Amino acid sequence: MQLVYLIVGAVVVGLALVLQHERRQAARLVERSRELERLSSELLRANRMKNDFLANVSHELRTPLNAIVGFVDLLREGVYGELSPRQVKPVERIEVSANHLRHLVDQILDLAKMAAGRLDVHAETIDVRPFILDVASEVESLVNEKNLNLSLVMGSALPRIRTDPTHLRQILVNLLGNAIKYTDEGSIVVKTRVLLHQEALVQGLAGILIGKENDTVTWLSIQVIDSGIGISLLNQERVFEEFEQVDSGPRADSLNRGTGLGLAISRRLSRLLGGDLLLSSQPGKGSTFTLWLPASDFDSGVPSKYAPHAG
Ligand code: ADP
Repeated sequence: MQLVYLIVGAVVVGLALVLQHERRQAARLVERSRELERLSSELLRANRMKNDFLANVSHELRTPLNAIVGFVDLLREGVYGELSPRQVKPVERIEVSANHLRHLVDQILDLAKMAAGRLDVHAETIDVRPFILDVASEVESLVNEKNLNLSLVMGSALPRIRTDPTHLRQILVNLLGNAIKYTDEGSIVVKTRVLLHQEALVQGLAGILIGKENDTVTWLSIQVIDSGIGISLLNQERVFEEFEQVDSGPRADSLNRGTGLGLAISRRLSRLLGGDLLLSSQPGKGSTFTLWLPASDFDSGVPSKYAPHAG
């Protein structure tokens, strides 16, 4: 009998110890999860403050920068008298540097706004063909300067789409600017076509189509294909990150060097427009950047579920 009491006693003490241990563990877990919650809300707050700071500083920098760019323009045009031959070069350098700085500030402001969810989408109906022609004519002089060949390949039935033309232009000018910058000889092709949902899926758009398999939406694909230096597989995701420049190459010391923000912004803008920006490339052979946008044929009145709304 005594033995039974002893065993029961031992079991009770054991259980009490286990319970105590469990209770302590639970308390520790609660403590940790509170700590994590606190850290995460601190991080969110710090991130918000960083974005606000960037947005404010960029905004404040823009006004004086615009003044510098404007006055340098006037100087170059001879409004304040003819520049002496010795003055021409330094004034040119001020202009290039000020433009570079203004571009950087604009990009930082865009990124800060996007991060804060404050970059609006103003959707309009645009005719794709004339739009692409117009953007291509914007970069024509740069193409000619480098003796490259720019060709446009467009299917006969390009639709009108509903999108934000300013954001779309920004993405395309950036992709074309890069294609020109990183191609020393050969060609740049802009290939535009419309694909059905299933075709888009096969062409690599699976990432953003998951869960939307039954959709009847068509997709517009705009590819900027160059025969330039290309990007290694290792760097193909990195180039979409902020301030990443994987190959400073020939333009390292140039005043026209980039900022490492163009692709980060372009990808975010593409996603803001309901699409995506993908890359395939082979070092030494060239790169293909594919911009996917939801397209609904407004002539046939099919509304797109993904089309952005006016913001
Ligand atoms: P950047 O202002 O430096 O061009 P981007 O964000 O536009 O910044 O591009 C990031 C990096 O990706 C570039 O520094 C370059 O190394 C690489 N890159 C972008 N476009 C191309 C291209 N068409 N061909 C080869 N490399 C490219």
